[in-house]
Amino acid sequence: MRNEQAYYDEIKKKFAEEREIRVNFRPEGTAQFTSEFTGELEKYAVDPYAEERVEREPITDTVECLFIGGGFSALLTSARLRERGVESIRIVERGADVGGTWYWNRYPGVACDVVSYDYLPLLDEMNYVPKNHYSRGDEILEHCQAIANKYDLYDLAVFQTTVTSTTWLASEQMWELKTDRGDVMKARFVICANGTLSKPKLAKIEGINDFKGNSFHTSRWDYDFTGQDLSNLKDKVVGIIGTGATAVQAVPGLGESAKELYVFQRTPSSIDIRNDWPTDPDWAAKLKPGWQQKRRERNLQGPQLTEEQKKKQASRTKEEKLRHQENNNIDYMMRIHDRIEKTVDDPQTAEALKPWYMFMCKRPCFHNDYLPTFNRPNVHLIDTHGEGITKITEKGPEFKGKEYELDLLIFATGFEVQKTGIYNQIIGKNNLDLEDKYSDGIRTLLGIHTEGFPNLFIMGGYQASFQFNLTDMLQTQGDHIADCIAYAREHDHNTIEPTAASEEWWVQEVISHRGKTKRNEECTPGYYNFEGESNRRQDGNYNGGFLQYFNHMAEVRSKMQNSFIFD
Ligand code: NDP
Repeated sequence: MRNEQAYYDEIKKKFAEEREIRVNFRPEGTAQFTSEFTGELEKYAVDPYAEERVEREPITDTVECLFIGGGFSALLTSARLRERGVESIRIVERGADVGGTWYWNRYPGVACDVVSYDYLPLLDEMNYVPKNHYSRGDEILEHCQAIANKYDLYDLAVFQTTVTSTTWLASEQMWELKTDRGDVMKARFVICANGTLSKPKLAKIEGINDFKGNSFHTSRWDYDFTGQDLSNLKDKVVGIIGTGATAVQAVPGLGESAKELYVFQRTPSSIDIRNDWPTDPDWAAKLKPGWQQKRRERNLQGPQLTEEQKKKQASRTKEEKLRHQENNNIDYMMRIHDRIEKTVDDPQTAEALKPWYMFMCKRPCFHNDYLPTFNRPNVHLIDTHGEGITKITEKGPEFKGKEYELDLLIFATGFEVQKTGIYNQIIGKNNLDLEDKYSDGIRTLLGIHTEGFPNLFIMGGYQASFQFNLTDMLQTQGDHIADCIAYAREHDHNTIEPTAASEEWWVQEVISHRGKTKRNEECTPGYYNFEGESNRRQDGNYNGGFLQYFNHMAEVRSKMQNSFIFD
Protein backbone atom coordinates (compact mmCIF):
# COMPACT_ATOMS: atom_id res chain seq x y z
CA MET A 1 0.00 0.00 0.00
CA ARG A 2 2.71 2.50 1.08
CA ASN A 3 4.45 2.46 -2.23
CA GLU A 4 1.33 2.94 -4.26
CA GLN A 5 0.99 6.42 -5.67
CA ALA A 6 -2.71 6.41 -4.70
CA TYR A 7 -1.67 6.49 -1.04
CA TYR A 8 0.36 9.66 -1.58
CA ASP A 9 -2.31 11.24 -3.79
CA GLU A 10 -4.90 10.71 -1.09
CA ILE A 11 -2.71 12.54 1.45
CA LYS A 12 -2.07 15.36 -1.01
CA LYS A 13 -5.83 15.69 -1.43
CA LYS A 14 -6.22 16.04 2.32
CA PHE A 15 -3.42 18.69 2.34
CA ALA A 16 -5.37 20.66 -0.28
CA GLU A 17 -8.63 20.37 1.69
CA GLU A 18 -6.98 21.61 4.88
CA ARG A 19 -5.39 24.48 3.00
CA GLU A 20 -8.81 25.45 1.64
CA ILE A 21 -10.26 25.56 5.15
CA ARG A 22 -7.46 27.81 6.40
CA VAL A 23 -7.51 30.16 3.36
CA ASN A 24 -11.29 30.53 3.44
CA PHE A 25 -11.15 31.75 7.02
CA ARG A 26 -8.52 34.37 6.14
CA PRO A 27 -8.74 35.30 2.45
CA GLU A 28 -7.23 38.72 3.25
CA GLY A 29 -3.70 37.23 3.46
CA THR A 30 -1.08 39.50 5.01
CA ALA A 31 -3.73 42.18 5.70
CA GLN A 32 -4.97 40.07 8.64
CA PHE A 33 -1.96 41.28 10.63
CA THR A 34 -0.74 44.63 11.85
CA SER A 35 2.74 45.69 12.82
CA GLU A 36 1.86 49.35 13.26
CA PHE A 37 1.79 49.49 17.03
CA THR A 38 0.28 52.89 17.61
CA GLY A 39 -2.40 54.08 20.01
CA GLU A 40 -3.45 51.33 22.38
CA LEU A 41 -1.17 48.85 20.64
CA GLU A 42 1.92 50.94 21.43
CA LYS A 43 2.63 48.93 24.58
CA TYR A 44 3.44 45.87 22.42
CA ALA A 45 6.49 47.67 20.98
CA VAL A 46 8.03 48.84 24.26
CA ASP A 47 11.48 47.38 24.96
CA PRO A 48 11.30 45.54 28.30
CA TYR A 49 15.02 44.67 28.26
CA ALA A 50 16.44 48.21 28.30
CA GLU A 51 17.11 49.27 31.86
CA GLU A 52 16.27 52.86 31.07
CA ARG A 53 16.03 55.20 28.14
CA VAL A 54 19.46 56.82 27.79
CA GLU A 55 19.07 60.52 27.07
CA ARG A 56 21.58 62.10 24.70
CA GLU A 57 22.07 65.06 22.41
CA PRO A 58 21.21 64.60 18.70
CA ILE A 59 24.13 63.46 16.55
CA THR A 60 25.08 65.36 13.39
CA ASP A 61 28.41 63.83 12.36
CA THR A 62 29.56 61.82 9.33
CA VAL A 63 30.79 58.22 9.24
CA GLU A 64 32.02 56.09 6.38
CA CYS A 65 29.84 52.99 6.89
CA LEU A 66 26.55 52.98 8.73
CA PHE A 67 24.52 49.90 9.58
CA ILE A 68 20.80 50.18 10.20
CA GLY A 69 20.35 47.39 12.71
CA GLY A 70 22.85 45.72 15.02
CA GLY A 71 22.20 42.00 14.57
CA PHE A 72 24.19 39.29 12.81
CA SER A 73 24.20 41.16 9.46
CA ALA A 74 25.89 44.23 10.89
CA LEU A 75 28.30 42.29 13.08
CA LEU A 76 29.63 39.87 10.51
CA THR A 77 29.91 42.51 7.77
CA SER A 78 31.65 44.94 10.13
CA ALA A 79 34.23 42.29 10.92
CA ARG A 80 35.00 41.97 7.20
CA LEU A 81 35.17 45.76 6.80
CA ARG A 82 37.60 46.01 9.70
CA GLU A 83 39.76 43.32 8.05
CA ARG A 84 39.82 45.58 4.98
CA GLY A 85 40.93 48.61 6.99
CA VAL A 86 37.65 50.49 7.38
CA GLU A 87 37.79 52.46 10.61
CA SER A 88 34.64 54.54 10.65
CA ILE A 89 31.73 52.16 11.29
CA ARG A 90 28.50 53.02 13.08
CA ILE A 91 25.65 50.77 14.09
CA VAL A 92 22.28 52.44 14.68
CA GLU A 93 20.00 50.09 16.56
CA ARG A 94 16.48 50.25 17.96
CA GLY A 95 17.34 47.95 20.88
CA ALA A 96 19.62 48.92 23.75
CA ASP A 97 22.44 46.61 22.61
CA VAL A 98 23.61 44.58 19.63
CA GLY A 99 22.14 41.14 18.92
CA GLY A 100 19.06 41.80 16.76
CA THR A 101 16.84 38.72 16.89
CA TRP A 102 18.75 37.52 19.93
CA TYR A 103 18.37 40.84 21.68
CA TRP A 104 14.60 40.87 21.28
CA ASN A 105 13.73 37.20 21.60
CA ARG A 106 14.37 36.25 25.20
CA TYR A 107 11.23 34.24 25.82
CA PRO A 108 11.69 31.18 28.06
CA GLY A 109 13.21 28.29 26.14
CA VAL A 110 14.61 30.49 23.36
CA ALA A 111 17.24 28.63 21.38
CA CYS A 112 18.30 28.08 17.82
CA ASP A 113 17.70 24.83 16.04
CA VAL A 114 20.30 25.32 13.37
CA VAL A 115 23.52 23.56 14.41
CA SER A 116 25.46 26.09 16.48
CA TYR A 117 28.84 25.37 14.84
CA ASP A 118 27.32 26.66 11.59
CA TYR A 119 24.84 29.18 12.93
CA LEU A 120 26.98 31.39 15.16
CA PRO A 121 28.97 33.76 12.95
CA LEU A 122 32.73 34.34 13.07
CA LEU A 123 33.63 31.35 15.25
CA ASP A 124 37.09 31.11 13.65
CA GLU A 125 37.75 34.79 14.18
CA MET A 126 36.38 34.74 17.73
CA ASN A 127 38.23 31.51 18.55
CA TYR A 128 35.02 30.24 20.12
CA VAL A 129 33.33 26.85 20.14
CA PRO A 130 29.65 26.92 21.19
CA LYS A 131 28.69 25.07 24.36
CA ASN A 132 26.06 22.83 22.76
CA HIS A 133 25.12 21.37 19.41
CA TYR A 134 22.19 23.84 19.46
CA SER A 135 22.84 27.14 21.19
CA ARG A 136 20.48 28.83 23.62
CA GLY A 137 19.48 32.43 23.13
CA ASP A 138 21.60 33.89 25.95
CA GLU A 139 24.78 32.30 24.58
CA ILE A 140 24.09 33.73 21.12
CA LEU A 141 23.42 37.20 22.54
CA GLU A 142 26.70 37.04 24.49
CA HIS A 143 28.49 35.98 21.32
CA CYS A 144 27.07 39.04 19.52
CA GLN A 145 28.32 41.29 22.33
CA ALA A 146 31.76 39.65 22.17
CA ILE A 147 31.96 40.33 18.42
CA ALA A 148 30.99 43.98 18.96
CA ASN A 149 33.73 44.27 21.60
CA LYS A 150 36.42 42.54 19.57
CA TYR A 151 35.79 44.71 16.51
CA ASP A 152 35.33 47.95 18.52
CA LEU A 153 31.80 48.40 17.30
CA TYR A 154 30.49 49.92 20.52
CA ASP A 155 32.60 53.07 20.07
CA LEU A 156 30.37 54.71 17.47
CA ALA A 157 27.22 52.65 18.01
CA VAL A 158 23.96 54.39 18.79
CA PHE A 159 21.27 52.39 20.60
CA GLN A 160 17.60 52.94 21.41
CA THR A 161 17.44 54.78 18.14
CA THR A 162 15.29 54.12 15.10
CA VAL A 163 16.27 55.37 11.67
CA THR A 164 13.20 57.02 10.19
CA SER A 165 14.56 58.29 6.86
CA THR A 166 17.56 57.62 4.67
CA THR A 167 17.97 60.16 1.89
CA TRP A 168 20.59 60.42 -0.86
CA LEU A 169 22.30 63.79 -1.03
CA ALA A 170 23.46 63.89 -4.64
CA SER A 171 25.57 67.03 -4.26
CA GLU A 172 27.61 65.48 -1.45
CA GLN A 173 27.39 61.85 -2.59
CA MET A 174 26.37 60.96 0.92
CA TRP A 175 23.38 59.45 2.68
CA GLU A 176 21.60 61.55 5.27
CA LEU A 177 19.88 59.59 8.04
CA LYS A 178 17.28 61.00 10.36
CA THR A 179 16.18 59.21 13.50
CA ASP A 180 13.51 59.33 16.17
CA ARG A 181 16.11 60.99 18.44
CA GLY A 182 16.46 64.07 16.26
CA ASP A 183 19.77 62.90 14.78
CA VAL A 184 20.79 64.03 11.30
CA MET A 185 23.77 61.82 10.52
CA LYS A 186 25.64 61.34 7.29
CA ALA A 187 27.28 58.24 5.90
CA ARG A 188 29.08 57.36 2.69
CA PHE A 189 27.85 53.77 2.68
CA VAL A 190 24.62 52.54 4.26
CA ILE A 191 23.89 48.89 4.93
CA CYS A 192 20.27 47.98 5.68
CA ALA A 193 20.92 45.29 8.25
CA ASN A 194 17.49 45.43 9.82
CA GLY A 195 16.77 41.73 9.55
CA THR A 196 14.20 39.61 7.79
CA LEU A 197 11.74 39.09 10.62
CA SER A 198 12.33 41.93 13.05
CA LYS A 199 9.06 43.81 13.29
CA PRO A 200 6.62 41.94 15.54
CA LYS A 201 3.10 41.57 14.24
CA LEU A 202 -0.26 40.96 15.87
CA ALA A 203 -3.35 39.40 14.37
CA LYS A 204 -6.09 41.99 13.95
CA ILE A 205 -8.52 40.51 16.43
CA GLU A 206 -11.78 42.17 17.39
CA GLY A 207 -11.62 43.42 20.98
CA ILE A 208 -7.84 42.98 21.31
CA ASN A 209 -7.65 46.19 23.35
CA ASP A 210 -10.53 45.21 25.63
CA PHE A 211 -8.55 42.50 27.41
CA LYS A 212 -8.07 43.50 31.05
CA GLY A 213 -5.29 41.06 31.97
CA ASN A 214 -1.62 41.40 31.09
CA SER A 215 -0.55 40.74 27.51
CA PHE A 216 2.61 40.97 25.41
CA HIS A 217 4.26 39.72 22.24
CA THR A 218 6.85 36.94 22.63
CA SER A 219 9.63 39.29 21.47
CA ARG A 220 8.86 41.68 24.35
CA TRP A 221 8.67 39.21 27.27
CA ASP A 222 7.53 40.77 30.53
CA TYR A 223 9.72 38.97 33.08
CA ASP A 224 8.61 41.42 35.75
CA PHE A 225 5.19 39.82 35.48
CA THR A 226 6.18 36.18 34.93
CA GLY A 227 9.36 36.13 37.04
CA GLN A 228 12.71 35.17 35.49
CA ASP A 229 11.99 31.50 36.23
CA LEU A 230 8.25 31.89 35.50
CA SER A 231 7.49 31.14 39.16
CA ASN A 232 5.02 34.07 39.33
CA LEU A 233 2.76 32.09 37.02
CA LYS A 234 2.01 29.33 39.49
CA ASP A 235 -1.33 30.88 40.39
CA LYS A 236 -2.02 32.38 36.95
CA VAL A 237 -4.11 31.25 34.02
CA VAL A 238 -2.10 31.83 30.86
CA GLY A 239 -3.05 31.74 27.19
CA ILE A 240 -0.81 31.77 24.13
CA ILE A 241 -2.02 32.53 20.62
CA GLY A 242 0.06 30.91 17.88
CA THR A 243 1.90 27.62 17.55
CA GLY A 244 4.88 28.52 15.32
CA ALA A 245 8.57 27.98 16.12
CA THR A 246 8.49 30.52 18.96
CA ALA A 247 5.48 29.03 20.74
CA VAL A 248 6.92 25.53 20.35
CA GLN A 249 9.90 26.62 22.45
CA ALA A 250 7.93 28.71 24.97
CA VAL A 251 5.03 26.33 25.66
CA PRO A 252 6.95 23.63 27.63
CA GLY A 253 8.17 26.15 30.23
CA LEU A 254 4.76 27.77 30.44
CA GLY A 255 3.09 24.40 30.84
CA GLU A 256 5.40 23.54 33.70
CA SER A 257 4.93 26.87 35.48
CA ALA A 258 1.41 28.13 34.91
CA LYS A 259 -1.58 27.11 36.97
CA GLU A 260 -3.44 26.54 33.71
CA LEU A 261 -2.20 27.00 30.15
CA TYR A 262 -4.44 27.39 27.09
CA VAL A 263 -2.70 27.03 23.73
CA PHE A 264 -4.80 28.56 20.95
CA GLN A 265 -3.87 26.79 17.73
CA ARG A 266 -4.81 27.67 14.16
CA THR A 267 -2.37 25.47 12.24
CA PRO A 268 -0.13 22.94 14.02
CA SER A 269 3.63 22.97 13.47
CA SER A 270 5.54 19.84 12.50
CA ILE A 271 7.70 18.87 15.46
CA ASP A 272 10.66 16.57 14.97
CA ILE A 273 13.21 15.24 17.45
CA ARG A 274 15.74 17.77 18.71
CA ASN A 275 19.00 15.93 18.95
CA ASP A 276 21.02 18.20 21.19
CA TRP A 277 24.19 17.48 23.16
CA PRO A 278 26.89 19.38 25.01
CA THR A 279 29.96 20.02 22.89
CA ASP A 280 32.54 17.30 23.46
CA PRO A 281 35.63 19.11 24.83
CA ASP A 282 37.96 16.57 23.16
CA TRP A 283 36.35 17.26 19.80
CA ALA A 284 36.58 21.02 20.38
CA ALA A 285 40.23 20.80 21.39
CA LYS A 286 41.10 19.06 18.15
CA LEU A 287 39.51 21.68 15.90
CA LYS A 288 42.09 23.31 13.66
CA PRO A 289 42.08 27.04 12.89
CA GLY A 290 39.64 27.77 10.06
CA TRP A 291 37.36 24.87 11.02
CA GLN A 292 34.14 26.84 10.67
CA GLN A 293 35.12 28.16 7.24
CA LYS A 294 35.71 24.56 6.14
CA ARG A 295 32.21 23.62 7.32
CA ARG A 296 30.80 26.59 5.40
CA GLU A 297 32.53 25.48 2.23
CA ARG A 298 31.15 21.96 2.64
CA ASN A 299 27.64 23.26 3.32
CA LEU A 300 27.82 25.45 0.27
CA GLN A 301 28.38 22.43 -1.95
CA GLY A 302 25.19 20.84 -0.56
CA PRO A 303 24.68 17.10 -0.04
CA GLN A 304 27.05 15.00 -2.11
CA LEU A 305 25.38 12.18 -4.06
CA THR A 306 27.02 8.81 -4.68
CA GLU A 307 27.56 7.74 -8.29
CA GLU A 308 24.63 5.36 -7.98
CA GLN A 309 22.34 8.11 -6.63
CA LYS A 310 23.42 10.42 -9.45
CA LYS A 311 22.60 7.72 -12.05
CA LYS A 312 19.20 7.13 -10.50
CA GLN A 313 18.48 10.86 -10.48
CA ALA A 314 19.47 11.23 -14.11
CA SER A 315 17.19 8.36 -15.19
CA ARG A 316 14.08 10.09 -13.80
CA THR A 317 11.94 12.52 -15.79
CA LYS A 318 11.23 15.95 -14.34
CA GLU A 319 7.75 14.81 -13.23
CA GLU A 320 9.18 11.67 -11.63
CA LYS A 321 11.77 13.72 -9.75
CA LEU A 322 9.09 16.04 -8.43
CA ARG A 323 6.82 13.16 -7.42
CA HIS A 324 9.74 11.35 -5.77
CA GLN A 325 10.55 14.44 -3.72
CA GLU A 326 6.91 15.02 -2.82
CA ASN A 327 6.47 11.42 -1.74
CA ASN A 328 9.57 11.66 0.44
CA ASN A 329 8.17 14.81 2.00
CA ILE A 330 4.86 13.07 2.66
CA ASP A 331 6.73 10.17 4.30
CA TYR A 332 8.44 12.72 6.54
CA MET A 333 5.12 14.30 7.55
CA MET A 334 3.55 10.89 8.26
CA ARG A 335 6.52 10.08 10.50
CA ILE A 336 5.74 13.33 12.34
CA HIS A 337 2.12 12.12 12.69
CA ASP A 338 3.32 8.78 14.11
CA ARG A 339 5.47 10.62 16.61
CA ILE A 340 2.45 12.61 17.80
CA GLU A 341 0.33 9.49 18.19
CA LYS A 342 3.04 7.80 20.23
CA THR A 343 3.67 10.85 22.44
CA VAL A 344 0.31 12.45 23.10
CA ASP A 345 -2.01 10.41 25.33
CA ASP A 346 -5.38 11.89 24.45
CA PRO A 347 -6.32 10.71 20.92
CA GLN A 348 -8.41 13.82 20.17
CA THR A 349 -5.57 16.15 21.15
CA ALA A 350 -3.11 14.03 19.17
CA GLU A 351 -5.34 14.25 16.10
CA ALA A 352 -5.59 18.04 16.43
CA LEU A 353 -1.79 18.38 16.68
CA LYS A 354 -1.21 16.66 13.33
CA PRO A 355 -0.01 19.03 10.62
CA TRP A 356 -1.65 18.39 7.25
CA TYR A 357 0.64 20.11 4.76
CA MET A 358 3.76 19.30 2.80
CA PHE A 359 7.13 19.34 4.59
CA MET A 360 8.66 22.86 4.45
CA CYS A 361 5.36 24.61 3.68
CA LYS A 362 5.87 26.01 7.15
CA ARG A 363 9.04 26.31 9.13
CA PRO A 364 9.73 22.81 10.54
CA CYS A 365 10.24 22.72 14.31
CA PHE A 366 12.36 20.49 16.54
CA HIS A 367 11.55 19.94 20.19
CA ASN A 368 11.46 17.07 22.66
CA ASP A 369 9.17 18.60 25.30
CA TYR A 370 6.49 20.40 23.28
CA LEU A 371 4.26 17.41 22.49
CA PRO A 372 4.53 15.79 25.96
CA THR A 373 3.43 19.13 27.47
CA PHE A 374 -0.08 18.34 26.21
CA ASN A 375 -0.17 15.32 28.54
CA ARG A 376 -0.11 17.63 31.54
CA PRO A 377 -3.50 18.04 33.22
CA ASN A 378 -3.09 21.84 33.41
CA VAL A 379 -2.41 22.26 29.68
CA HIS A 380 -5.28 22.58 27.21
CA LEU A 381 -5.08 22.70 23.45
CA ILE A 382 -7.81 24.88 21.98
CA ASP A 383 -7.75 23.82 18.37
CA THR A 384 -9.51 26.33 16.14
CA HIS A 385 -8.93 24.17 13.04
CA GLY A 386 -7.81 26.85 10.62
CA GLU A 387 -10.11 29.57 11.94
CA GLY A 388 -7.91 31.18 14.55
CA ILE A 389 -8.98 33.49 17.31
CA THR A 390 -11.20 36.26 15.99
CA LYS A 391 -12.51 37.78 19.18
CA ILE A 392 -11.05 38.81 22.52
CA THR A 393 -13.20 40.10 25.37
CA GLU A 394 -12.12 41.78 28.58
CA LYS A 395 -11.69 38.29 30.05
CA GLY A 396 -9.74 36.67 27.24
CA PRO A 397 -10.06 34.99 23.83
CA GLU A 398 -13.42 33.67 22.75
CA PHE A 399 -13.88 30.71 20.45
CA LYS A 400 -17.17 29.12 19.37
CA GLY A 401 -19.02 31.14 22.00
CA LYS A 402 -16.76 30.04 24.87
CA GLU A 403 -14.76 32.68 26.72
CA TYR A 404 -11.36 31.68 28.12
CA GLU A 405 -10.69 33.77 31.20
CA LEU A 406 -6.99 34.56 31.51
CA ASP A 407 -4.56 36.49 33.68
CA LEU A 408 -1.97 36.63 30.92
CA LEU A 409 -2.31 36.46 27.14
CA ILE A 410 0.84 35.94 25.08
CA PHE A 411 0.90 36.69 21.37
CA ALA A 412 3.23 34.28 19.54
CA THR A 413 1.96 35.63 16.24
CA GLY A 414 5.28 36.18 14.50
CA PHE A 415 6.90 38.96 12.55
CA GLU A 416 6.42 40.97 9.38
CA VAL A 417 8.69 39.87 6.54
CA GLN A 418 11.07 42.63 5.53
CA LYS A 419 10.43 44.07 2.09
CA THR A 420 12.21 47.42 2.17
CA GLY A 421 13.43 49.49 5.09
CA ILE A 422 11.32 48.90 8.16
CA TYR A 423 10.39 52.01 10.17
CA ASN A 424 12.51 53.80 7.58
CA GLN A 425 11.71 55.65 4.37
CA ILE A 426 14.51 55.30 1.83
CA ILE A 427 14.77 58.04 -0.78
CA GLY A 428 17.37 57.61 -3.53
CA LYS A 429 18.44 59.62 -6.57
CA ASN A 430 15.84 61.94 -8.13
CA ASN A 431 13.75 61.73 -4.96
CA LEU A 432 12.74 58.17 -5.72
CA ASP A 433 11.20 56.35 -2.77
CA LEU A 434 12.30 52.70 -2.64
CA GLU A 435 8.69 51.67 -1.90
CA ASP A 436 7.59 53.38 -5.13
CA LYS A 437 10.40 51.80 -7.09
CA TYR A 438 9.23 48.39 -5.86
CA SER A 439 5.52 49.07 -6.39
CA ASP A 440 5.49 47.05 -9.64
CA GLY A 441 7.80 44.41 -8.26
CA ILE A 442 11.10 44.28 -6.41
CA ARG A 443 14.14 45.17 -8.53
CA THR A 444 17.65 44.45 -7.26
CA LEU A 445 20.99 43.02 -8.20
CA LEU A 446 21.51 39.92 -6.03
CA GLY A 447 18.88 41.19 -3.58
CA ILE A 448 21.60 43.57 -2.31
CA HIS A 449 21.99 46.51 -4.70
CA THR A 450 19.30 48.53 -6.43
CA GLU A 451 19.67 51.09 -9.22
CA GLY A 452 19.09 54.69 -8.20
CA PHE A 453 20.33 53.99 -4.66
CA PRO A 454 24.12 54.30 -4.80
CA ASN A 455 26.20 53.02 -1.88
CA LEU A 456 23.14 51.33 -0.37
CA PHE A 457 23.32 47.63 0.47
CA ILE A 458 20.38 45.51 1.59
CA MET A 459 20.98 42.37 3.63
CA GLY A 460 18.63 39.44 4.08
CA GLY A 461 15.98 40.87 1.76
CA TYR A 462 14.00 39.42 -1.11
CA GLN A 463 15.68 38.29 -4.33
CA ALA A 464 18.48 36.79 -2.25
CA SER A 465 18.84 33.06 -1.83
CA PHE A 466 16.98 31.25 0.93
CA GLN A 467 19.01 29.22 3.41
CA PHE A 468 17.71 27.32 6.41
CA ASN A 469 20.92 28.46 8.07
CA LEU A 470 20.41 32.16 7.51
CA THR A 471 23.93 32.94 8.76
CA ASP A 472 25.46 31.21 5.71
CA MET A 473 23.49 33.54 3.48
CA LEU A 474 24.22 36.64 5.53
CA GLN A 475 27.94 35.89 5.71
CA THR A 476 28.04 35.46 1.95
CA GLN A 477 26.33 38.81 1.53
CA GLY A 478 28.55 40.45 4.15
CA ASP A 479 31.70 39.22 2.39
CA HIS A 480 30.36 40.53 -0.92
CA ILE A 481 29.41 43.94 0.50
CA ALA A 482 32.79 44.36 2.20
CA ASP A 483 34.49 43.50 -1.12
CA CYS A 484 32.37 46.06 -2.98
CA ILE A 485 33.15 48.81 -0.45
CA ALA A 486 36.84 47.89 -0.44
CA TYR A 487 36.90 48.01 -4.25
CA ALA A 488 35.31 51.48 -4.32
CA ARG A 489 37.77 52.74 -1.69
CA GLU A 490 40.83 51.24 -3.38
CA HIS A 491 39.87 52.78 -6.71
CA ASP A 492 38.99 56.16 -5.20
CA HIS A 493 35.37 55.92 -6.26
CA ASN A 494 32.86 57.84 -4.16
CA THR A 495 29.92 55.77 -5.29
CA ILE A 496 29.01 52.29 -6.46
CA GLU A 497 25.62 51.65 -8.06
CA PRO A 498 24.34 48.70 -10.09
CA THR A 499 23.81 49.30 -13.80
CA ALA A 500 20.27 49.06 -15.18
CA ALA A 501 21.39 46.05 -17.22
CA SER A 502 22.84 44.13 -14.30
CA GLU A 503 19.70 44.78 -12.27
CA GLU A 504 17.47 43.61 -15.13
CA TRP A 505 19.63 40.48 -15.53
CA TRP A 506 19.08 39.60 -11.88
CA VAL A 507 15.33 40.30 -11.91
CA GLN A 508 14.99 37.94 -14.89
CA GLU A 509 17.21 35.39 -13.17
CA VAL A 510 14.92 35.49 -10.10
CA ILE A 511 11.78 35.22 -12.25
CA SER A 512 13.18 32.29 -14.23
CA HIS A 513 13.57 30.27 -11.04
CA ARG A 514 10.23 31.15 -9.53
CA GLY A 515 7.05 29.26 -10.23
CA LYS A 516 8.84 26.02 -11.10
CA THR A 517 6.69 24.20 -8.62
CA LYS A 518 3.22 24.97 -7.33
CA ARG A 519 4.43 24.99 -3.74
CA ASN A 520 3.34 28.55 -3.06
CA GLU A 521 -0.19 27.93 -4.25
CA GLU A 522 -0.42 24.44 -2.77
CA CYS A 523 1.06 25.24 0.62
CA THR A 524 -1.00 26.14 3.61
CA PRO A 525 -0.66 29.88 4.32
CA GLY A 526 2.15 31.30 6.38
CA TYR A 527 4.87 33.88 6.02
CA TYR A 528 6.80 31.57 3.64
CA ASN A 529 4.12 32.13 0.96
CA PHE A 530 2.80 35.59 1.83
CA GLU A 531 -0.15 34.05 3.72
CA GLY A 532 -1.41 32.34 0.60
CA GLU A 533 -1.18 35.35 -1.73
CA SER A 534 0.52 34.16 -4.89
CA ASN A 535 0.57 37.09 -7.28
CA ARG A 536 3.98 38.49 -6.52
CA ARG A 537 6.11 37.70 -9.62
CA GLN A 538 9.69 38.58 -8.64
CA ASP A 539 8.80 39.45 -5.03
CA GLY A 540 10.39 36.54 -3.29
CA ASN A 541 13.61 34.64 -2.82
CA TYR A 542 16.02 33.64 -5.54
CA ASN A 543 15.27 29.94 -5.95
CA GLY A 544 18.23 28.91 -8.11
CA GLY A 545 20.08 27.41 -5.14
CA PHE A 546 22.61 28.75 -2.69
CA LEU A 547 25.69 27.59 -4.61
CA GLN A 548 24.40 29.29 -7.76
CA TYR A 549 23.71 32.46 -5.77
CA PHE A 550 27.23 32.36 -4.36
CA ASN A 551 28.70 31.83 -7.84
CA HIS A 552 26.61 34.67 -9.28
CA MET A 553 27.99 36.98 -6.59
CA ALA A 554 31.55 36.00 -7.51
CA GLU A 555 30.70 36.55 -11.18
CA VAL A 556 29.38 40.06 -10.44
CA ARG A 557 32.55 40.89 -8.52
CA SER A 558 34.79 39.48 -11.25
CA LYS A 559 33.48 42.15 -13.63
CA MET A 560 32.93 45.08 -11.31
CA GLN A 561 33.13 47.69 -14.07
CA ASN A 562 30.33 45.96 -16.02
CA SER A 563 28.09 45.28 -13.07
CA PHE A 564 28.28 48.73 -11.50
CA ILE A 565 28.61 52.40 -12.33
CA PHE A 566 31.31 54.09 -10.28
CA ASP A 567 31.66 57.80 -9.68
P1 NDP B 1 5.17 32.38 13.01
O1 NDP B 1 4.77 33.41 12.01
O2 NDP B 1 5.89 31.21 12.53
O3 NDP B 1 3.89 31.86 13.79
C1 NDP B 1 2.80 32.68 14.10
C2 NDP B 1 1.73 31.81 14.68
O4 NDP B 1 0.59 32.60 15.04
C3 NDP B 1 1.20 30.75 13.71
O5 NDP B 1 1.03 29.56 14.40
C4 NDP B 1 -0.13 31.35 13.27
O6 NDP B 1 -1.05 30.40 12.77
C5 NDP B 1 -0.57 31.95 14.57
N1 NDP B 1 -1.67 32.90 14.43
C6 NDP B 1 -1.69 34.06 13.77
N2 NDP B 1 -2.89 34.65 13.88
C7 NDP B 1 -3.64 33.84 14.66
C8 NDP B 1 -4.97 33.90 15.15
N3 NDP B 1 -5.77 34.91 14.85
N4 NDP B 1 -5.40 32.89 15.93
C9 NDP B 1 -4.60 31.86 16.24
N5 NDP B 1 -3.34 31.74 15.79
C10 NDP B 1 -2.88 32.74 15.02
O7 NDP B 1 6.00 33.17 14.15
P2 NDP B 1 7.09 32.62 15.18
O8 NDP B 1 7.44 33.75 16.05
O9 NDP B 1 6.65 31.37 15.81
O10 NDP B 1 8.33 32.23 14.26
C11 NDP B 1 8.85 33.14 13.31
C12 NDP B 1 10.13 32.59 12.73
O11 NDP B 1 11.22 32.85 13.59
C13 NDP B 1 10.20 31.09 12.54
O12 NDP B 1 9.54 30.64 11.42
C14 NDP B 1 11.68 30.85 12.47
O13 NDP B 1 12.17 31.18 11.20
C15 NDP B 1 12.18 31.83 13.49
N6 NDP B 1 12.35 31.13 14.78
C16 NDP B 1 13.29 30.14 14.88
C17 NDP B 1 13.44 29.44 16.02
C18 NDP B 1 14.41 28.35 16.09
O14 NDP B 1 15.49 28.37 15.59
N7 NDP B 1 13.99 27.30 16.73
C19 NDP B 1 12.61 29.69 17.20
C20 NDP B 1 11.67 30.76 17.01
C21 NDP B 1 11.53 31.43 15.84
P3 NDP B 1 -1.02 29.94 11.21
O15 NDP B 1 0.12 29.01 11.11
O16 NDP B 1 -2.32 29.35 10.97
O17 NDP B 1 -0.80 31.19 10.40
